[in-house]
Amino acid sequence: MCNNHVHSASESASSRRRFLGGAAALAALASSAPALAADDALPTNRIGGDAALQRLTQGNARYVAGKPTQRDYSVGRVARTSGQKPFAAILGCADSRVAPELAFDQGPGDLFVVRLAGNFVNDDALASLEFATKVLEVPLIMVLGHTSCGAVAATIQVVQDNASLPGHLPSLTTAIRPAVEAAARHKPADLLAAATAENVRQNVARLMSAAPILADLTKSGAVKVVGGVYDLATGKVGMV
Ligand SMILES: [Zn+2]
Repeated sequence: MCNNHVHSASESASSRRRFLGGAAALAALASSAPALAADDALPTNRIGGDAALQRLTQGNARYVAGKPTQRDYSVGRVARTSGQKPFAAILGCADSRVAPELAFDQGPGDLFVVRLAGNFVNDDALASLEFATKVLEVPLIMVLGHTSCGAVAATIQVVQDNASLPGHLPSLTTAIRPAVEAAARHKPADLLAAATAENVRQNVARLMSAAPILADLTKSGAVKVVGGVYDLATGKVGMV
């Protein structure tokens, strides 16, 4: 009995140590976290998902119109050494033609961007987005696909023509395949466009249900997750 008591007391001390250790690790990871840094000089990102989305929409309108904000990138450099308060996270394609900071007319420190060909959620992308939302308190995530996406086009070839790809490329097409198959079931006139939109939708859903962190944050309303597709021809981001 006494032994049991000692055992459980030491177990609880050890779990407390583990928890404190974890909290310290998170703090170290986030030496830039708003609550932990003297970064009052930075503009707040506690604006909510709707206002964050509005900011992206307005920035994209300026970009489309060819009237981006004139910026001196050196402004705020010193303040940014103390932390970061990005107001939106973007999960975008690695495609060289789709640069979120340009497309949404934002400056350094504004967007937390995760990019990989085909803009899908894998474990590493998810971990980055968990860091953005849980630690940096980013209120909005946008999954951003784009027209003429080579990763989606390649996946269509794999699905329809049984094409085989070299190296590690199959890991991309395996991730995108469910979206291509779901879109193909509706026999759309433009399968590439339909699969691109479906890929965005599926990854929005994946983020919203990603337990424990993002599922909780989206359920409580602390984080909003939306999807968009960037049109290469116009520069406009349409919501999916
Ligand atoms: Zn792409």
